[in-house]
Amino acid sequence: MIKFRNLSIKTKLVSIQLFTTLFVLVFFIGFYLFTQYRQFEDTAFERMSTLAEILGSNSVSALMFFDNEAADDVLESLITQPDILNATIYDHAGEFFASYNKAGIAEYTFPGVGAKPRNTSEEHFVFTQKIIFDNLNVGWIALRLDACNRRAQLIEALWRSFFVLAVGLIMAYLLSIRVQKPISDSILTLAKITKTVRETGNYSLRVISKSRDEVGTLVLGFNTMMEKISHNEKHLEDLVAARTVELEAAKTKAEESDHLKSAFLASMSHELRTPLNSIIGFSGILLQEMAGPLNAEQKKQLGMVKSSSSHLLDLINDVLDISKIESGRLQVYGEIFKIDLLLIMTVSTLRPFAEKKGLTLEYELEPDLPELHSDKRRIEQVLINLINNAIKFTEKGSINVICARQGDALSISVIDTGLGIKEADQKNIFLAFRQVDTGLDRVKEGSGLGLAICKRLTDLLGGSISVESQIGEGSTFTILIPFSLEKQTNED
Ligand code: ADP
Repeated sequence: MIKFRNLSIKTKLVSIQLFTTLFVLVFFIGFYLFTQYRQFEDTAFERMSTLAEILGSNSVSALMFFDNEAADDVLESLITQPDILNATIYDHAGEFFASYNKAGIAEYTFPGVGAKPRNTSEEHFVFTQKIIFDNLNVGWIALRLDACNRRAQLIEALWRSFFVLAVGLIMAYLLSIRVQKPISDSILTLAKITKTVRETGNYSLRVISKSRDEVGTLVLGFNTMMEKISHNEKHLEDLVAARTVELEAAKTKAEESDHLKSAFLASMSHELRTPLNSIIGFSGILLQEMAGPLNAEQKKQLGMVKSSSSHLLDLINDVLDISKIESGRLQVYGEIFKIDLLLIMTVSTLRPFAEKKGLTLEYELEPDLPELHSDKRRIEQVLINLINNAIKFTEKGSINVICARQGDALSISVIDTGLGIKEADQKNIFLAFRQVDTGLDRVKEGSGLGLAICKRLTDLLGGSISVESQIGEGSTFTILIPFSLEKQTNED
């Protein structure tokens, strides 16, 4: 059902005017019909009273001389009054004296002289009056008038009223259409423009209104608001454009610096590796006493030179790797291999380091794993890094490497019972040069690049790396590597 409040303002205004007109017209028509009804009765009784007066005075002598026929003649004059149906004259004692019945109308028995002077029913009006002569009551006269005319007259009045009602409503409709226009037009335009603004976001639109009333104020307020919005929007656009230019310049500058930094690190690392390799090589030769015997102190100090140089070389290799990855120069190379051998070799190589700390290092391999088509060297690098970290950050317990299939990818988890990592630190450890304060001697602990390299390498292999850890209970690092590398590329 259509609700009144959902109708358009135009329809509402027209309906209000029509309902008001209808209400007023129905009220007046009702009043008119009621007065018509009453008026008919009053007129009828007035006429009957006049007739009774005339007929009464004409029949005085007939009554006084007991001349019934003369009285009948007097009553016969009622033939000229077609709506008088019956008439009767009674003598001074109230006895029947003379009567008149309209042609075709049956004799009517009047209620008698003692009845109410005025009697009304749907069909007729009955009027009874004394006949007075010289202040003497010489008799009575009773008349019966046909009331059917009253209904006919009322029906006619009703038709007239309907006509007035219809004409009144049509006129009210035409008038309201014209009268509501100045009010509804502005509101409708306002609503239409608001809808367009909402749909298109065009704040340059304005509403034109000549009215100086509340609607005019509303339109003025709307236009001012639109003016402000479009001004602010323009200002915002200019501001965004200016900031975008600034940001783009800053971004280009940052990219350039980043590129320069990576290039610098790559070339520096390269230059450092050559002398470092010869330091490691020659200190090894000296330690093997190929160049002559060494005493215990010399061996100890030379051993420190060699181990520090190896650590420095690892660091430089990490820096080289990360700068290569960041400058986009490191690509992965796909080959077909089985993970089993790679895992067994890696675990066997690193087990002595774990055992040196009193830790166990074991692996679990799901049988019949499919062959991988991926970069074997890079997976090995990630695995070594994760197991090394597990050894480094575990003081007692075990390290377990679990290798299983997970959908289209191979999952390798390195689980340790070490220090664990706080939840707040977990999201930072994959960023370059980020280390967590573990309370251990940081100088020997590494560069903070290992996990950043792992993250970038697994990304390059189309996989992912994640960590789950509880402080004091241990950590689980899991890498997911797709069985098939989508793009086969070569490392430059
Ligand atoms: P780093 O060369 O310092 O080890 P990584 O990037 O490999 O750098 O690791 C970043 C930090 O993450 C480490 O400094 C260490 O605090 C934390 N971390 C890495 N692996 C583990 C682990 N298995 N258990 C506890 N903490 C770890």
